[in-house]
Amino acid sequence: MKEFSIAVHGGAGNILSEKMTPELEKQYHAALEEALKLGHECLEKGGLAHEAVELAVVNLEDCELFNAGKGSVFAHNGMHILEASIMDGKDLMAGSVAGLRHVRNPVQLARKVMIDSPHVMLIGAGAELFARENNIELVDNDWFSTDFRKMQLERIRETPDIDLDHLGLAGEKKFGTVGAVAKDKQGNLAAATSTGGVTNKRWGRVGDSPLIACGTYAENGYAAVSTTGYGEVFIRKAVAHDVIARMKYGGQSLEQALQALIHEDLPPAGGDGGLIAIDQEGNIQFAFNTRGMYRGYAYGDEI
Ligand code: ASP
Repeated sequence: MKEFSIAVHGGAGNILSEKMTPELEKQYHAALEEALKLGHECLEKGGLAHEAVELAVVNLEDCELFNAGKGSVFAHNGMHILEASIMDGKDLMAGSVAGLRHVRNPVQLARKVMIDSPHVMLIGAGAELFARENNIELVDNDWFSTDFRKMQLERIRETPDIDLDHLGLAGEKKFGTVGAVAKDKQGNLAAATSTGGVTNKRWGRVGDSPLIACGTYAENGYAAVSTTGYGEVFIRKAVAHDVIARMKYGGQSLEQALQALIHEDLPPAGGDGGLIAIDQEGNIQFAFNTRGMYRGYAYGDEI
């Protein structure tokens, strides 16, 4: 039994080794480690699991390497449209936001929705009004932009295609959504996920990341889960809650649930991607059916 633990992810995918320079690899490591340390420090001091996952995800949102917060992909209309969710396994309280254009840290707003509103999910202008009323930091939409993301949009803007975080030549493919799961010293589980979605998305497209049960789920006694992958399939399969259902009704361990779901159930449906999860004992599990997944974890005094 681990007293407390935390894991983070920065997306799954097929990262071609020739595109991953040692310098870039170092940057990814440093970014994940920093987020992990913040969350870990919070738990060590007795912070709650949902506070720790928020801190870790805010940190990853501010890092432009990932497709969340700063560095998010562009939608077809040339804007960044962000979404996030968080869930507290103690009482199944949850907060979720989508269609955001100006909230610097969407996961922060999601937690505010969970704690200070009677609702679970807020979208668009209403969500941003709630942010303003609650002193959540707002920024201009181009604050999220980077040249790399602009280039990604320009490449496919005139096509009907959508693009994952990195969809390059020769099968390079990556989901850059970020997430965290944690168990605190009181035994509570929590999960959070944040994303810019997919490049060239249209018509108010919403992915799995802000949807409780699809991108994020946490229930004490079972598990906390944060996903990254092809959102439409992750929605259809209610991936995050499916992990809990397999444990709860099927008697599977967390490891068995992930193996069956990620490696057997999702691939035939086109469900490329992965997830991080933590069980009531504080054991951390990762699973992905892509070549890799950016991830990190820390158990008590072991990072
Ligand atoms: N799940 C995200 C979406 O479909 C993409 C990702 O994981 O990067 O919006």
